[in-house]
Amino acid sequence: MSAIPYKIYLEESEMPKYWYNLRADMQKKPAPLLNPGTRLPMTAEELSGVFCQELVKQELDNDTREYPIPEEIQSFYRMYRPSPLVRAYCLEEKLKTPAKIYYKFEGNNTSGSHKLNSAVAQAYYAKRQGLKGVTTETGAGQWGTALSMACSYFGLDCKVFMVKVSYEQKPFRREVMRVYGASVTPSPSDTTQVGRKILAEHPGTTGSLGCAISEAVETAVSNPGYRYVLGSVLNQVLLHQSVIGVEAKIAMDKYGISPDIIIGCAGGGSNLGGLIAPFMGQKLRGEKDYRIIAVEPASCPSLTRGVYAYDFADTGMVCPLAKMYTLGSDFIPAPNHAGGLRYHGMSPILSELYDQGMMEAVSVPQTSVFEAAEIFARVEGILPAPESSHAIKVALDEALRCRETGEEKTILFGLTGTGYFDLVAYEKYHNGLMDDYVPTDEELARYTAKLPKM
Ligand SMILES: *Cc1c(COP(=O)(O)O)cnc(C)c1O
Repeated sequence: MSAIPYKIYLEESEMPKYWYNLRADMQKKPAPLLNPGTRLPMTAEELSGVFCQELVKQELDNDTREYPIPEEIQSFYRMYRPSPLVRAYCLEEKLKTPAKIYYKFEGNNTSGSHKLNSAVAQAYYAKRQGLKGVTTETGAGQWGTALSMACSYFGLDCKVFMVKVSYEQKPFRREVMRVYGASVTPSPSDTTQVGRKILAEHPGTTGSLGCAISEAVETAVSNPGYRYVLGSVLNQVLLHQSVIGVEAKIAMDKYGISPDIIIGCAGGGSNLGGLIAPFMGQKLRGEKDYRIIAVEPASCPSLTRGVYAYDFADTGMVCPLAKMYTLGSDFIPAPNHAGGLRYHGMSPILSELYDQGMMEAVSVPQTSVFEAAEIFARVEGILPAPESSHAIKVALDEALRCRETGEEKTILFGLTGTGYFDLVAYEKYHNGLMDDYVPTDEELARYTAKLPKM
C-alpha cells in the first residue's frame, strides 16, 4: 500500500452523493419531540408552522437510511469540499507518540466551521418551498455567518438574533454576516415579546442561546413567508452533517485506515453526530467496534453531569420539548470562550446513543483546552477554534496515553473550525486571566429541579 499522504483529498467523482441517516440503524430510536402544550408527539403539520416542509420530513424520518444530496447542494459543496483529512505527522512527532493521529478539518470556508454543511441544505429547501426568508439565532457567530452565506447564494432574506455578549465582543463576525446581506439583532432585543419579557425580568443580561432561539422562533411565526432554522441539535442537522463522516470514511477506506478512537467536541452535537455517523452505523449493525468520545466544557457539562429528560429547547419555552441530556433550559453557563459549546442540551440522537452506552463523554477545563490549542497550532499550522480545541485536548491525552503503553492506536478527531474571531479568548489565556469555573452540584441541581414535569 502507498504511504499515507499528509492530506487525503477526494476526487470530485468520489464525493458523497447521499447523507446518511443514523437513526435508520438505531434499534431504539431517539425520543420524539413533544408539543409543549399537549405533551403529545409533534406532528408534521405542527412542525410545518415553524420549519420548512422538506426539513420536517427529514426531522421525523427514523427509517430512510440514505438521503440523496440534491444536485444544487452538491455543487455548493464542491466550492469548499471535500474538507481535507489530515494525517498529523508533525503533531505525532512533537508528542513522540506511536499513535497515528488524523483530523478532519472543516474550517476551510469563510464561516470558518462545519456549520455551512447544514446551512446550505436548510437555505436550499426554504428557497424551493418559495419562502421569503429565514430567522435564526447565533451564539459565537459561526452559524449566523454560515446561514448568511447560504441565504445570499439562494437569494433569501436572513434575520439573525445574535447573543448580546457575542454581538458586542465580536463586531467583526457581525460585519461578515452583513457582507452577505443578513440583518443582525443583539438578543435579548425589544423587537419581540419574549425578548421584552426577558429584558424586564433580567435587566442587563448579556443573553444566551436559549433566549435568542425564542426570539428567532417568534419572529419566524409572526412574519408570513418566514421559517425558523436551527444550526445544531435537531435530527435534520445531524443528517446534513453526516457529509463529514461519510467523506472521512471514503478517504480512510481508500488507504485501508480504520480509526480505533473517534473524538469530537459536543455543543449541540451536530459535528460529532456527523463525523461519527457512518462509523456508529457499523457499530450499531454489529459490524465493527469503535471508541467514540464526546468532549464538552467543564463549565457546560450536559452529557457528563446533566440529566436525560424532556426539556425545553429554549429559554422562552416556545419550542417543542426534546428528550435529551440537559442542564435545564434556563441554565446560563459562566462566561466561557467556547461560545459554540454553551448550549444547555444535547442532540436527542447523541443523547440516546450515550444512554445506550454506545459512546463516552468527558468534560475538560478551559485553560487545558487553550494549552492543547497552542501545542496544535505550533506544529500543524492551523489556529483552531476554542470549540474544536476541546477535541484536540482529548486527542492529545489519548496520544500521550499511547506513548506510555506503546500502543499504536489510530485516532480520528474533528477539527471543526478556525479561531481567528476568538483572539480575545486567546489574549485572556496569554494574560493569565482565564478561569476554570466549574458549576457545583448544588448549582446544577437548582436548574434541573425546574425541568418540566412529565
Ligand atoms: C458551533 C460549533 C461547534 C459546536 O456545535 P455542534 O453542533 O456541537 O457541532 C463546534 N465547533 C465550532 C467551530 C462551531 O462553530
